[in-house]
Amino acid sequence: MHIIVCIKQVPDTTEIRIDPVKGTLVREGIPSIMNPDDKGGLELALRFKELYGAQVTVISMGPPQADMILREAFAMGVDRAILLSDRKFAGADTLATSYALAGAIRTLDFDLVIAGRQAIDGDTAQVGPELAEHLDLPQVSYVVGAERLADGRLRVKKENEDSVQTLEVEGKCVLTVLASAFEPRYMQVSGIVDAYSREVEVWSADRLDVDETKLGLSGSPTKVFQSFPKALKAPGKLCEACAEEAVEIMVNTLKEKHLI
Ligand SMILES: Cc1cc2nc3c(=O)[nH]c(=O)nc-3n(C[C@H](O)[C@H](O)[C@H](O)COP(=O)(O)OP(=O)(O)OC[C@H]3O[C@@H](n4cnc5c(N)ncnc54)[C@H](O)[C@@H]3O)c2cc1C
Repeated sequence: MHIIVCIKQVPDTTEIRIDPVKGTLVREGIPSIMNPDDKGGLELALRFKELYGAQVTVISMGPPQADMILREAFAMGVDRAILLSDRKFAGADTLATSYALAGAIRTLDFDLVIAGRQAIDGDTAQVGPELAEHLDLPQVSYVVGAERLADGRLRVKKENEDSVQTLEVEGKCVLTVLASAFEPRYMQVSGIVDAYSREVEVWSADRLDVDETKLGLSGSPTKVFQSFPKALKAPGKLCEACAEEAVEIMVNTLKEKHLI
């Protein structure tokens, strides 16, 4: 079994700031981390490796600095790491990002693709489902549990807003995973030392199975018009009231503001 895990390097969002003039993210001096949902996905893949003897490959698209999270993945126990890095990928929106990732994955012999549900910077949760579309594979999103059955099918738990669904998937598929369900393991000390002697393969666009006009900015149908920090909300109003009075106050306030 060969599992591909898509991992993205993201700024540590507890420290994210937006340039008030340019409206762009201030990235200078901000530490980068492996996106938390991707770490959960990696943990799931590594559990499959232990249970079923799977081989695990991680793929990231990003600048050369993304090498850091791929080495972290080596230290956690992956077998192979690929970095898609080329100026032709620059300015990619989610469609062009998923297209490039799919173009790399298609060249590999794989059984399962795992992505995080959502990246904490772009926050769209689009790349995993788009990847499934590009690869023409079934997908299960919001995964909180997965096991492989004796006949090779996957039994997967999917979290909905108010319920958990159990689904069985036959053949290759894409899963998008929630970090909260898969507590990631720590890197091993020997793994950290070893991670720096391992090879991170750097792939440029010509290595992928893609139409290059669909990569990067030219292949991106969406354009970011403006980014700005959220305006601070007015302070709340504190009222002391019993449950019935509280309901009345809330309803009246909403009516006053023409919200109901
Ligand atoms: C017009 C436009 C221009 C942009 N230009 C740039 C730019 O120049 N530079 C830039 O850094 N960003 C740019 N972005 C942002 C970029 O499109 C997103 O970061 C990227 O598409 C991923 O989307 P997301 O963060 O919402 O991921 P989500 O869809 O929330 O991510 C879901 C999962 O997909 C996987 N995934 C997502 N991205 C990657 C990746 N790169 N590698 C591996 N796995 C991944 C991860 O498993 C992740 O958990 C641009 C966006 C737009 C709309």
